[in-house]
Amino acid sequence: MDCIFCKIINGEIPSKKIYEDDMVYAFYDINPEAPVHFLVIPKKHIKSANYINNENSKYISHIFEIINKLASELNIDKAGYRVVNNCGVDGGQTVEHLHFHVLGGRELKWPPG
Ligand code: AMP
Ligand code: ZN
Repeated sequence: MDCIFCKIINGEIPSKKIYEDDMVYAFYDINPEAPVHFLVIPKKHIKSANYINNENSKYISHIFEIINKLASELNIDKAGYRVVNNCGVDGGQTVEHLHFHVLGGRELKWPPG
């Protein structure tokens, strides 16, 4: 399948990996928007948040367990951080493989543009 995040998972495209298990893969964003900016993705190709369902939602709960584990390991848990999912064109999604951005290491503005 022609998906850059599937290629990152299988090693065809290099990445700065932070964590991996049988369900999820986490790596640093190539174009960081904060001092700490990484992505957590399911190893199963799910196109966007619109495609989360009863069958694959176990990936999502696991992703959130890993997010707080990695936030703690990268020392952004106490100061705080933001988890972002961009869905579809209006949401600003550019890669059609579900991913959660984790941003921290500075105070983030709200609301987003
Ligand atoms: P989104 O706009 O929510 O779809 O986010 C896609 C994110 O993937 C962007 O923040 C990109 O910087 C990031 N990205 C794209 N290609 C790569 C790559 N090869 N390695 C790491 N991050 C990437
Ligand atoms: Zn994919």
